[in-house]
Amino acid sequence: MPMIPDKPTVSIDIDLIRRNFPVLQTQVHGKPLVYLDNGATTQKPRVVIDKLNELYESKNSSIHRGVHFLSEQMTGEYEHARETVRNFINARNTNEIVFTSGATGSINTVAFSFGEKYVKEGDEIIVSEMEHHSNIVPWQMLCARKKAKLKVIPFDENGELIQNEYKLLFNDKTRLVAITQVSNSLGTVNPVKEMIRFAHDHHVPVLIDGAQAVQHSSVDVQDLDCDFYVFSGHKVFGPTGIGVLYGKEIMLDALPPYQGGGDMVDCVKFEKTTYNELPFKFEAGTMNYTGAIGLGTALEYIGSIGFDAITQHEKSLCAYTHNKLKEIEGLDIYGNAKEKISIFSFLIQGLHPLDTGMILDKMGIALRTGTHCTQPVMDHFQITGTIRASMAFYNSFGDADRLIEGLKKAVSMLK
Ligand code: PLP
Repeated sequence: MPMIPDKPTVSIDIDLIRRNFPVLQTQVHGKPLVYLDNGATTQKPRVVIDKLNELYESKNSSIHRGVHFLSEQMTGEYEHARETVRNFINARNTNEIVFTSGATGSINTVAFSFGEKYVKEGDEIIVSEMEHHSNIVPWQMLCARKKAKLKVIPFDENGELIQNEYKLLFNDKTRLVAITQVSNSLGTVNPVKEMIRFAHDHHVPVLIDGAQAVQHSSVDVQDLDCDFYVFSGHKVFGPTGIGVLYGKEIMLDALPPYQGGGDMVDCVKFEKTTYNELPFKFEAGTMNYTGAIGLGTALEYIGSIGFDAITQHEKSLCAYTHNKLKEIEGLDIYGNAKEKISIFSFLIQGLHPLDTGMILDKMGIALRTGTHCTQPVMDHFQITGTIRASMAFYNSFGDADRLIEGLKKAVSMLK
């Protein structure tokens, strides 16, 4: 973690940005809200809230099914959102962008579809020890269905994946690697590009879980060369209940559909049904079209700020918060990778995380306590949970100061 002397100058107008997020202007227990639970979900800018209102107030209609004005208009907005997502992650083609219910929905789609087609008894799937449960359990379920095996890349004491151990896991039974780009409990940024290259050298495709990555820095799926990439709308300032599955066209084309229903079909006969083309083959039933359009608006909003400014601000905020946390006696940070984002998991000796979280809540500070859906990470450190402060680009140095003040008060009350 780089040492920085004090609050640096940043090229982001944080006050202006914060005014774009109505919830950041609210009070909790009579104190101005400090929202540090962005790893769980992010707040929504005014443009996204207004967009959703506009859709329901004056445009609502089901997509892809009507010839009437409202339906055509909504279909146009939905497909525009797909193009916005394509552009956001630099996919080659909108055929490669499937809307799902979230990162979890996207991973389950691949686990089922890819698993049905390519995984058989004795095959192996590689995940890492720092995965969110969403990127473990669908693979375990696949392994149970197919009598396949799950192999796990361990991480070291700093929370970095051990690359030599990763390489040793490959053999002629390896069918897929599924790893997170950024850990939601350690903040580690994994060297996924190099890991993808290694897997491809062994002819193994790779799924990247980008649920904690896309909101912090720009992602280019062509540059990464991943085969699948997933993320959730609600963690990237968009609505909940919407997510994205990117898949290389050649991969998605070869896979069977995950769910059957309306819209994913071409011709339905009792003798035989044929399926729609990409990406609709993977979008069964009435989709969350307002969610998709709201997500498009959120991504356009991020584009208007730009990742150069976002990344620079977050890096400074990360270093500042890290250094301030280290000043608190008895505070241990879990996750000290060289490359990390502003997610801080920590414990303070003698303090229970839950008590600490409740005291901070009374001070208007929202953070998370528990396992953060990464029980294997907790098992690694032989702890039952941590306190997690996770930041977004709208967090300020003032938020970091309020966190430190709150923690010091909790120490004085509980020790
Ligand atoms: N992957 C990671 C790294 C996450 O942090 C999360 C949620 O916290 C998920 C997957 C699951 O996302 P969702 O619950 O939005 O499907």
